[in-house]
Amino acid sequence: TPIIEVRSIGKRYGNIIALSDVSTSVRAGEVTCVLGDNGAGKSTFIKILAGAHEHTDGELLIDGEPTTLSSPRAALELGIATVYQDLAVVPLMPVWRNFFLGSELSKGVGPFRKLDIDEMKRITKVELAAMGIDLRDVEQPIGTLSGGERQCVAIARAVYFGARVLILDEPTAALGVKQSGVVLRYIAKARDRGLGVVFITHNPHHAYPVGDRFMLLRRGKSMGDFPKSEMTLDE
Ligand code: ADP
Ligand code: ADP
Repeated sequence: TPIIEVRSIGKRYGNIIALSDVSTSVRAGEVTCVLGDNGAGKSTFIKILAGAHEHTDGELLIDGEPTTLSSPRAALELGIATVYQDLAVVPLMPVWRNFFLGSELSKGVGPFRKLDIDEMKRITKVELAAMGIDLRDVEQPIGTLSGGERQCVAIARAVYFGARVLILDEPTAALGVKQSGVVLRYIAKARDRGLGVVFITHNPHHAYPVGDRFMLLRRGKSMGDFPKSEMTLDE
């Protein structure tokens, strides 16, 4: 069974239909891409999976069980972690401090326990290295890292704290070609570690190389959910 199965989900805000009839699935070790332009409903979709907004139509199944995610906390407890575009990092704090920032929220989810500072620094270094980022200095303020590196730290943090599903909100939108490449390789690493990844993007060229499934949104409606074998990238 997929970790997440989305069955004909919809979201209405009063009379406004932000999302309707959206179906897709998220499996361990796969990347599900959600593609759509501005206003397509991508943010609404993220909010439903992240527990920030409840869906109003259709069914959301987690591990095969019909579920309504009534809070971000509920989503986290089921192992669904969301990395938003603003990343929730504090620029002036060291990389290692950011890595453990809010870790008390992961209590019961990840490998939470009281750690001393040296151990937190060591773990940060090891975890980033395991994902292919070699940071000589985890003491440097995270604000000194490039946008791509900051994305990678946020992803590594979610992986370390035991996420099963990683929801990435336009992780490459603000980045140049080279930095985007770094983040895309990082997404592939998370997938190879067995996470299910939901990659939300408006850029098919970023989605195509890493994606296993593709769900296309347009004006709040799903244009379909396709495996990679049915996709091509011709313009
Ligand atoms: P995207 O993230 O792809 O740009 P959104 O999910 O933000 O799309 O928006 C999808 C549609 O839902 C838009 O037409 C938007 O105006 C509407 N919408 C989003 N949030 C709300 C809300 N809280 N109340 C009313 N309408 C909303
Ligand atoms: P909350 O659940 O925190 O109260 P809202 O539904 O008020 O969230 O808003 C969530 C997001 O949707 C915000 O980013 C807001 O800018 C956007 N939004 C709210 N109302 C609308 C609307 N009518 N059209 C488009 N976007 C909206």
